[in-house]
Amino acid sequence: MDKINIKGLICFGNHGVLKEEQVLGQKFVINATLYLDTQAAAMSGNLEKTVNYAEICQRVKSFVEGNTFELIETLAEKIARDLLRTYTILKKVDIEVQKPWAPIGLPLDTVSVEITRERHTVYIALGSNMGDKKAYLDSAVAKLNALEDFKVITVSDYIETEPYGGVKQDNFLNGVLEGETLMSPMELLDALHEIESLEGRTRTIHWGPRTLDLDIIFYDDMAIDSKDLTVPHKEMHLRDFVLTPMNQIAPWFRHPVLNKTVENLLDELK
Ligand code: ADP
Ligand code: MG
Repeated sequence: MDKINIKGLICFGNHGVLKEEQVLGQKFVINATLYLDTQAAAMSGNLEKTVNYAEICQRVKSFVEGNTFELIETLAEKIARDLLRTYTILKKVDIEVQKPWAPIGLPLDTVSVEITRERHTVYIALGSNMGDKKAYLDSAVAKLNALEDFKVITVSDYIETEPYGGVKQDNFLNGVLEGETLMSPMELLDALHEIESLEGRTRTIHWGPRTLDLDIIFYDDMAIDSKDLTVPHKEMHLRDFVLTPMNQIAPWFRHPVLNKTVENLLDELK
């Protein structure tokens, strides 16, 4: 991917754990690499199709000088998110925050934190089998889209399906959406849980009736296995009510562990 590099942007800021650092301030040096497609701008000479690096330098400098954080980790994270939120043309950023005057009582050139942050493509399964099911799914889509770091790209049709898992209950309405997010997987899971509880979800019977269930199906091509989160979703390849709507919006998407496309998985299940 094309890059725009900003090297050695000097700022004077008040970040640090020590009180003196926050009061007196010190020098910070920022390096940034911005990833985007510059070809359209290059061919047309149109500044709208790229980013204005002068403006970005000003923005970063104002951000570093106008805020106070204890950790340069936090500063780097906030700069990255601010740039990705503001310039939607950016696909990814590397941010390095250097602290050349770090008060550690030893001579050193600099100490720094460097991070990479980017937009992620995610697929989320939606399900409801209580009350006005369509209204619950629609509301979940709207609430996700209203989050600052989440954008809904496509929503599948909703399909009515029989309950799964052996508990006697009403039919489900299910769908899948594609989104773009700056959130980490755990941050996204927390956001989904919050929307579920705003919609009146209570966790009583496992696989029992619910106003709203939101599951992460895919997060880029990442494979995650942790106590609270398994991605791709553990059972997605066994669930027709996930694969059918998934197949409508992204049949070509490849399951990173099973190494099969959604279309293949649906064929196998049938
Ligand atoms: P289910 O979706 O299986 O009917 P719940 O919605 O009650 O059950 O989820 C139970 C737990 O599953 C959640 O608290 C969450 O920590 C965990 N979990 C693991 N992987 C995922 C995933 N990919 N998406 C959503 N939840 C997940
Ligand atoms: Mg769930």
